[in-house]
Amino acid sequence: MLYPNLSVNKAGHLAIAGIDACELAKKYGTPLYVLDENRVRHNCRLYTKAMKAYLPQGSMPLYASKALCFKGIYPVVADEGLGADVVSAGEVATAIRAGFPAENLCFHGTNKTDAEIAYGVEQGVGHFVVDNANELAVLGKEAQARGIVQRVLLRVTVGLDPHTLEAINTGRVDSQFGVPIETGQALRFVREALNTPGIEVEGFHSHIGSQIFEATSFCDQVDRLLAFACSVREELGYEAGIFNLGGGFGVCYVEDDPQVDIDENIYQIAQHLEAGCAHANYPMPRVFLEPGRSIVADAGVTLYTTGGTKTVEGYRSYVTVDGGMTDNPRYALYKSAYTLVNASRAQEPADFPCTVAGRCCESGDRIAEDIRIAQPKRGDVIAVLTTGAYNFAMSSNYNRVLRPALVMIFNGAVRVAVRRQTIDDLLALEQ
Ligand SMILES: *Cc1c(COP(=O)(O)O)cnc(C)c1O
Repeated sequence: MLYPNLSVNKAGHLAIAGIDACELAKKYGTPLYVLDENRVRHNCRLYTKAMKAYLPQGSMPLYASKALCFKGIYPVVADEGLGADVVSAGEVATAIRAGFPAENLCFHGTNKTDAEIAYGVEQGVGHFVVDNANELAVLGKEAQARGIVQRVLLRVTVGLDPHTLEAINTGRVDSQFGVPIETGQALRFVREALNTPGIEVEGFHSHIGSQIFEATSFCDQVDRLLAFACSVREELGYEAGIFNLGGGFGVCYVEDDPQVDIDENIYQIAQHLEAGCAHANYPMPRVFLEPGRSIVADAGVTLYTTGGTKTVEGYRSYVTVDGGMTDNPRYALYKSAYTLVNASRAQEPADFPCTVAGRCCESGDRIAEDIRIAQPKRGDVIAVLTTGAYNFAMSSNYNRVLRPALVMIFNGAVRVAVRRQTIDDLLALEQ
């Protein structure tokens, strides 16, 4: 199986962290998001351990909430010693209501509204990542009005193409995220921030993209950020205490995807930064990393019930499921590849060629194209692996399909962390 927490049990069913997937489907209904908490914790530890070993004290992984945001995730990542990134008042509130310490939150976003800025300051968010000068002035005023000094990181774009998908590539010069270094605007941005009352600039932030597999992309990013920091020092006499390098470590969705060795990657980033700082005589900054996908993706599995097979003679066979782009829009958005298993027949050979389609009125509503699974019968449970990131978080009610429940497995026990949406929930806002 793709991950060590997946196995085939005596009944011939897929088991997730030792729990029978078909039993889960029966008890909690489908579609169902299943999250293996121990796998989340394992992934958190890869970061905390490596960052403690290779980077200066005070360096820290921040869980990128957007990958999977619900109350139940916060006690887990907090317990594992992570801070968290948030990008909206909704994410701030979810974290805080789950008891997450506001001082460990890092507030991102290209266009935080005035109300969100006020809310974040009032809640005591530890760091704002300021995206642009428009935001700077509002934030400074808000902090001053409350008689505090708000710590911030300034988001810059290093002008790098990490060879990932267009839609998730954020580090190029021409980007709506942050302020570009190359055009000279980032330097002016720093000058302005340093002169804004109510603001304390602690360092810089840059995020180059997502689903990145090579450490060299991060090392190039470090080079560019450090070169920028040196020019800022030269021009303005300011030294950054924190480099936030963003997220983006890749995960395996299918057997052919490379495995990312997180420990080795962090080691290389640390070595690279240390050598660069020594060379430039720059004090080694603390480092923040913002993993999202690599914390939760492989801890998640989505279970569906299939409505059966429809063969278009001379073309292909479709297997339909009781969810689709409403709970997992990633195929429709990016043609993302996934590994699927017929959980009811996990022991049988995966030799039935098919395309798995969702239930929405969109020909793009597919979960996977031209794959092979054990030939399903109506009522079989189909499992889609590695759906912990950007699935629940991107779900919708298109076609008025109800949002699935999310259950968490921890040490053999299952609990409903998010209950299934009901028709009454769906209509609750309508007058
Ligand atoms: C999306 C994003 C992340 C998380 O990226 P992953 O690929 O999920 O690790 C981190 N930081 C920022 C600023 C982001 O936009």
